[in-house]
Amino acid sequence: MSQQPPVEYITPFKLARQEQCLKGVVALREMARLGQYLISNEGEASFEILFGVDEGRTYFARGQASASLQMECQRCSKSMNVDVEAEIAIAFVTSDQQAERVSADYEPCMVEDEKLSLVSLIEDELILALPIVATHEDTGCQSWFGENEEPASLAEPRENPFAVLATLKKASDK
Ligand SMILES: [Zn+2]
Repeated sequence: MSQQPPVEYITPFKLARQEQCLKGVVALREMARLGQYLISNEGEASFEILFGVDEGRTYFARGQASASLQMECQRCSKSMNVDVEAEIAIAFVTSDQQAERVSADYEPCMVEDEKLSLVSLIEDELILALPIVATHEDTGCQSWFGENEEPASLAEPRENPFAVLATLKKASDK
């Protein structure tokens, strides 16, 4: 195995001053927290991130991270492919006070000791971009619902363990 691992730690302030662009891939198995939402951690995420300093002297990173993920369909429990694309717009800060002053265009990101895990950054963005409830397209799977009925769980937060129960109950009420 001669494959080089991705650069784990980056120096965001330095990259921003140098207006660097980072581009590459990260194996999904490197991202354990994301893995909790997935059926399989095979595959990889790709990213392209531009670093810079804007007129307001904000050190930022902008770009995309994307991945094709295997998730469990919340309707039929079979595996389904979910293409996730995360838009990244981050402002790097070193204190809570700085974080509070970040403009609404950016999401503040705390940097300690001038360095930051690139893998964690990409992982966080992908988790935020996951669908709230993953289901096959209407025609894609057998469901407990009528043809044109949306699952009740769509509006529920991802962590709600009762979402599936609620949909089951609704189907049996008919
Ligand atoms: Zn399904």
